[in-house]
Amino acid sequence: MANTRAWTKCMVQRVARASRGCVAALLAMGLAVPAFAAPSVTPSERVKRNVVVRPAPDSDDKVAGLFPGDTAELIDEIPGWYHVRLSDGRTGYVSKSWTILSGDVPPPALAATTGPVKVHVIDIGTGLATFIEGPGFTMLYDAGSQDDLADGPDNRVLAYIKSVRPDVVAIDHLVLSHPHKDHLELMPDLFDRFVVRNVWDSGTVNRTRGYCRFLKKVEAEQGVQYHDALATGGIHSVAFTGKNCSGTVSIPQAAKMTDQPVTIGPGTTMTILYRNADPHPDPNENTVVVRLDHGNNSVLLAGDAEGGGRLTPVINAAGQSVMPPSPPSNGTIEKELLDCCAAMLKANVLIVGHHGSLTSSRKPFLEAVGASIYVISSGPHPYSKKVLPDPEVEDALRARGSLFQTDIDDDACEADETKIGPDNDESPGGCDSVIVTVPTTGQPTAQYNRSAD
Ligand SMILES: [Zn+2]
Ligand SMILES: [Zn+2]
Repeated sequence: MANTRAWTKCMVQRVARASRGCVAALLAMGLAVPAFAAPSVTPSERVKRNVVVRPAPDSDDKVAGLFPGDTAELIDEIPGWYHVRLSDGRTGYVSKSWTILSGDVPPPALAATTGPVKVHVIDIGTGLATFIEGPGFTMLYDAGSQDDLADGPDNRVLAYIKSVRPDVVAIDHLVLSHPHKDHLELMPDLFDRFVVRNVWDSGTVNRTRGYCRFLKKVEAEQGVQYHDALATGGIHSVAFTGKNCSGTVSIPQAAKMTDQPVTIGPGTTMTILYRNADPHPDPNENTVVVRLDHGNNSVLLAGDAEGGGRLTPVINAAGQSVMPPSPPSNGTIEKELLDCCAAMLKANVLIVGHHGSLTSSRKPFLEAVGASIYVISSGPHPYSKKVLPDPEVEDALRARGSLFQTDIDDDACEADETKIGPDNDESPGGCDSVIVTVPTTGQPTAQYNRSAD
């Protein structure tokens, strides 16, 4: 059984283009390694009887059963289902939850190798969820919400991606900036809809239900590469004892996060500017800060990176309440980034830190970034009794470039029947998503996406 598992894992790693070493390991075990393995689907190890083969994904009818030991040929895949051909020639659909894909399957994401990167800051109410699509890749940086907690297809991140890219079946890179609910809550459901290839998580242990559910999905995902800031080649093991999610999760660690650019598509790289798995009282201090580079342009994703405590606004000569020009405090992410690598912060687009709070976006940090487009994601749920963004931060950003916000009219949005995702659900979100289009040359542009799904 161990040999079978090693072979299957190696094949899956080959699919994920991460097979370094596994072929040699199989040879050392005396196992045959085919030069090319045709894509095939088999029941997973937890199948007791058989996997139902259905005539259509939403059908209750049964074409046949796929029994342990059977192999079906892969025709194509859609979210949640493999379309397969059985050995007797009949075709149907089997659930991805009960089957394993093996063999050399071309990456299904995108055929295009040129074109812009689009950064979708999804209006999920209060929190942050950023879907990024570009030539040859898909990516998510956070998928959380404080007030839109719907599961399954009503999950607004799933609904949004379906509305803009119904063809997407895989997320190549899933980044969790830090394990706060407003960045994490909608993430576990993604694993039921998509193949997830790489997960980037600081690795900071956080024993919340949300992080437990997330790690369990990562652990169960076939072929996923889990990258943290702790180690390479070990096991990320966390014991949970919560009432609604418990048990020990153990995930093999792939290549550790470094500051070296990671090529995520032809012409697009991701550089992790800040990664820190040390225990901090506030998970915001573990935020994974990412810069995407596409051609001549860059996008900085600041998560909940902060520059210190909430600044007290001051009144300027014109009688306006403004953010004082204070530098970031020692030990904060903004300060550490300015000290280590200010030149690397330069970006045309800033997805603003901590929902536009006075804890973040200190003046020297904004100067180092020098963006022309700013996007704030926030909603009506208060953070420490304060609804974000702070108007003084909005004003500081408007003085530097164009500002887009996902919280424009959350009250009216609750009952809006044209919004993206579940309609008229009395939750904020779905009305003011922002799309930033980043070309390889020329300036990025931004617009709201308010079209109904
Ligand atoms: Zn947050
Ligand atoms: Zn946070």
